[in-house]
Amino acid sequence: MNLIELKNLTLGYDNHIVLKSINMSIDDGDFICVVGPNGSGKSTLIKGILGLIKPISGKVIYNNLKQNFIGYMPQETLVDKNFPASVYEIVLSGTLNTLTKSFYTKKEKDLVLSNMKLLGIEKLKDKNFCDLSGGERQKVLLARSLCATSKLLILDEPSNNLDSKSKKDLYETVINLNKKNNITIIMITHDLDHDNLIGNKILSLREDEIFFGTTKEFVRRVHHE
Ligand code: ADP
Repeated sequence: MNLIELKNLTLGYDNHIVLKSINMSIDDGDFICVVGPNGSGKSTLIKGILGLIKPISGKVIYNNLKQNFIGYMPQETLVDKNFPASVYEIVLSGTLNTLTKSFYTKKEKDLVLSNMKLLGIEKLKDKNFCDLSGGERQKVLLARSLCATSKLLILDEPSNNLDSKSKKDLYETVINLNKKNNITIIMITHDLDHDNLIGNKILSLREDEIFFGTTKEFVRRVHHE
């Protein structure tokens, strides 16, 4: 079952084309890593999928998913580390896009607690966001984005600025969400360790060639280059 299809999608700004004729399908259960050098259009693609920019041509088709039911975790640089709020308040704000009333109900509060439990951060509930370690902060932001969806999470370089232990831990958490909780993942990453690739598919945006296919196929190509 596919959640989203990109059909001949061309994206850019004021007719300056960044990505040309992208065709890909995001299937239920996929874990897609998006890689490519700076400026290759990774964030532009995410904006296109989230509907934040209009296609120059082609389209994004949402099949089994409503557009505002996508969970999005931006790069850490976009979230103020010194934001004076408790972990609970930050995670709760992730329910805003699906809120049906103008206030939080038991449904949202229960969702926050269950997502914090799922990621093993319930003990941090009353702590101040600024007092957390980098790895803890990323888990809080992950729990926040999880409140927006039970289907598709888009993560923009979630392991940026983390030490290798926290990075490994965060990746394990994301892999579990994908495998055990059947959450489809699209993850922009710079960590392209060819011997330890995670995810079942790769979208590689390089100037000379755009590749979309299975991780296995990608590795085979890299070894043949
Ligand atoms: P990446 O995420 O791979 O680093 P981006 O998608 O951010 O790449 O950028 C791709 C290209 O689009 C770059 O040339 C960048 O300068 C340009 N770009 C990004 N955002 C904007 C914007 N808001 N307006 C105009 N050009 C932009």
